Amino acid sequence: MICPHCSCPVKEEIHFCLNCGSAVSTIAEIECGNHSGAAAVGACVVCGVPVCGDCAVTRGGKLFCNDSSHAVFLVRYALLGVAISEFEADIIVSNLKANGISPQFFSPKEFFNFKNDEPDSAVRVFVLKDDHARAVTLLTELELEDFIHLETIQPS
Ligand SMILES: [Zn+2]
Ligand SMILES: [Zn+2]
Ligand SMILES: [Zn+2]
Repeated sequence: MICPHCSCPVKEEIHFCLNCGSAVSTIAEIECGNHSGAAAVGACVVCGVPVCGDCAVTRGGKLFCNDSSHAVFLVRYALLGVAISEFEADIIVSNLKANGISPQFFSPKEFFNFKNDEPDSAVRVFVLKDDHARAVTLLTELELEDFIHLETIQPS
């Protein structure tokens, strides 16, 4: 599937585009992380919290939550990929750190809307844009690319 908002490839089982944050599935009945009862129109591209129309902040065609630091974060960092479990995320993070790359990660699992096994609750691993290409090469060399369950989005 291709996201109708940003033309980024999106896995079928995902409700929110990882690149722009827009909801790509109309069957998703996911509530805003801040307001129960309000339908989410998307999810923050950094932390993954689902947001309603009142909470969503749009910057440069991407959707963010009302934590203003998240839009600033994406100026320097790019999404490397997502890991379905915290265990997998730990493996990726420790391997990156061992090679001098300092990743940042966000887990939407803390939000009440998601069940732990849903792809939308996958842990999002980010690296500095300057480290992105090296991180992808590194994970491929370590044969850890299978832990990146979604297509890697090239940093813009
Ligand atoms: Zn999109
Ligand atoms: Zn956020
Ligand atoms: Zn809301």
